[in-house]
Amino acid sequence: MTASSSQNQSTRKDIRTLDRNQLVEAMEALGQPAFRAKQIESWIWDRGTASFEHMTNLGAALQKQLTEQFELSCVAIGETQVSRDGTVKIGFELAPGQTVEGVLIPTSKRMTACISSQVGCSLSCAFCATGRLKLLKNLTAGEIVDQVRHIAGLAREDHGKGLSNIVYMGMGEPLLNYRNVMDSIDRITGTPGLGMSPSRITVSTAGIAKMIRRMGDDQTRVNLALSLHAATDEKRNEIMAINETNDLASLRDAIQHFYTKTGTRPTFEYVLLRDFNDRMEDAQALARFARCVPCKINLIEYNPIDDGKYQRSHRDNTEDFQHFLEDEFNMIVNVRRSRGEDIDAACGQLAGKS
Ligand code: SAH
Repeated sequence: MTASSSQNQSTRKDIRTLDRNQLVEAMEALGQPAFRAKQIESWIWDRGTASFEHMTNLGAALQKQLTEQFELSCVAIGETQVSRDGTVKIGFELAPGQTVEGVLIPTSKRMTACISSQVGCSLSCAFCATGRLKLLKNLTAGEIVDQVRHIAGLAREDHGKGLSNIVYMGMGEPLLNYRNVMDSIDRITGTPGLGMSPSRITVSTAGIAKMIRRMGDDQTRVNLALSLHAATDEKRNEIMAINETNDLASLRDAIQHFYTKTGTRPTFEYVLLRDFNDRMEDAQALARFARCVPCKINLIEYNPIDDGKYQRSHRDNTEDFQHFLEDEFNMIVNVRRSRGEDIDAACGQLAGKS
């Protein structure tokens, strides 16, 4: 390699971060017609092509120029583990020492991909394994789409059908990587792209009020889930440090704004922690908070992490909690049973151990 090409290597721009206009400009700079931009986008986003050399309709000269000027890399697939219940966990290696995890959750009704938006997380929620890791990197839109593409491929190979749902519930806080997450959604829903319906996508947040409002302002068409887990500030501060700066009142306002702007009912997620937030008075507080908008409630079975500080609520207790919300407050409540526990693929257990 010559000195100048090695310099190019380190300064090459990731072509997957360019939008259509920027790609057209890049083609103009190379003396190419604008339609090349469309061809390249189709290779990248429709087909997931990982090398310019495979873009056969561009011609050898342009392929070479692109290789010199731009970076194009897809995430490497690391270890894949299959749970007894059919859940599959995949390690995605972005760079040495930077692994995120994605999960395929097949059920009789749905084929769900759970994907990561950050390597590590900055929020340190007390009950979450990812929260033990430092935040190392925001994923690019391309890296997020790679996870979806790979997991969709597994679904087709193993089950003969595509994904029905995508949830941003893997590692990281999606609303703290807002631009790349929204760009990834454009690519998952758009053409060129994967052409999926936004109503099948859910972004889950620990509660960044400003960015929830932003989702409303941007009239996003995806679903929003707020990880509530406690409905008084005192309790929520204890398990989610983010609540100290984004308290329940600010979240209520933000959620109302989101609902007014988008007309989409948010989901409140509530992980049941034994003797911490699973009593009837907690259910009452949850119902009082949740009355602020038409919504759905997902009660999540807790998956204990190493330190053992919190335990899963008893099944009976979970059912009582559910029925209380349904019968007394007329709420729509689902219980999300844990999946993939034997391979640490369950909610909150993703820590990139592989
Ligand atoms: N940062 C985002 C998305 C990632 S976590 C968020 O907080 O919503 C996805 C969901 O799993 C969140 O509701 C999170 O609170 C929950 N979760 C985290 N750790 C868990 C655990 N150990 N057991 C069950 N759910 C957990």
